[in-house]
Amino acid sequence: AEEILLRTEKLSVVGELAAGVAHEIRNPLTTIKGFVQLYKAENPEFKFNDLILGELNRIETITSEMLSLGKPQAITLEQANITDIIENTIDILSPEAHLKGVQFTFLYEEPEYMIKCEKNQIKQVFLNIFKNAMEAMGDGGEIQIALKRSPAGECIITVQDQGCGIPEDILPRLGEPFYTLKEKGTGLGLMICHKIIKQHHGSIVYQSRLNEGTLITITIPLAG
Ligand code: ADP
Ligand code: MG
Repeated sequence: AEEILLRTEKLSVVGELAAGVAHEIRNPLTTIKGFVQLYKAENPEFKFNDLILGELNRIETITSEMLSLGKPQAITLEQANITDIIENTIDILSPEAHLKGVQFTFLYEEPEYMIKCEKNQIKQVFLNIFKNAMEAMGDGGEIQIALKRSPAGECIITVQDQGCGIPEDILPRLGEPFYTLKEKGTGLGLMICHKIIKQHHGSIVYQSRLNEGTLITITIPLAG
């Protein structure tokens, strides 16, 4: 129990630090981006314009993820149906999925799984996890999402992909800040997921086989 407490404390200190740094980087970044855009408009022949803007956009993505880590969250909890949230998330990702040859299948035993939650945060969790699943499948494939109810009155969400898998020795490191195996990754997605799921009194478990795929099981208590 002591170790868990320590880890949580560390997480919030890191989160605050990250958000503070991100906030300070944002304003000068916006200024630089504006000037680069101006430069590009006046010097369209300069061949590194898009490279510079691309890298600036990347810093922007990283800072916005860092900001959402440390935001003091006044969470407003409301009743929401997880089925709707997941369907909505799949819709958002469908253009990207189509391009990558990825197909989502979504099965649920009951039409409604009501939880008490901050809707946008739960959506953020599924966005990050479905994105990771898509990014793990270089040649496309299927992502199977399923919902069911546990005897203890929780909603169990499983996400099975057919991607590259995660080496076993790495599983415990998932959710550590800046831990990424991707060239263009931030290593913040799962950290944000862990934080949000914890706030909702839920859990995340990873099971994986290299070159076969990963199964992620999220458990969230059902309302009432
Ligand atoms: P990022 O996606 O920016 O790298 P994340 O925190 O979302 O950061 O994920 C951390 C790392 O966990 C990823 O770099 C990847 O190596 C691994 N990972 C997460 N989900 C999956 C998955 N479904 N399949 C394979 N690897 C995964
Ligand atoms: Mg990610």
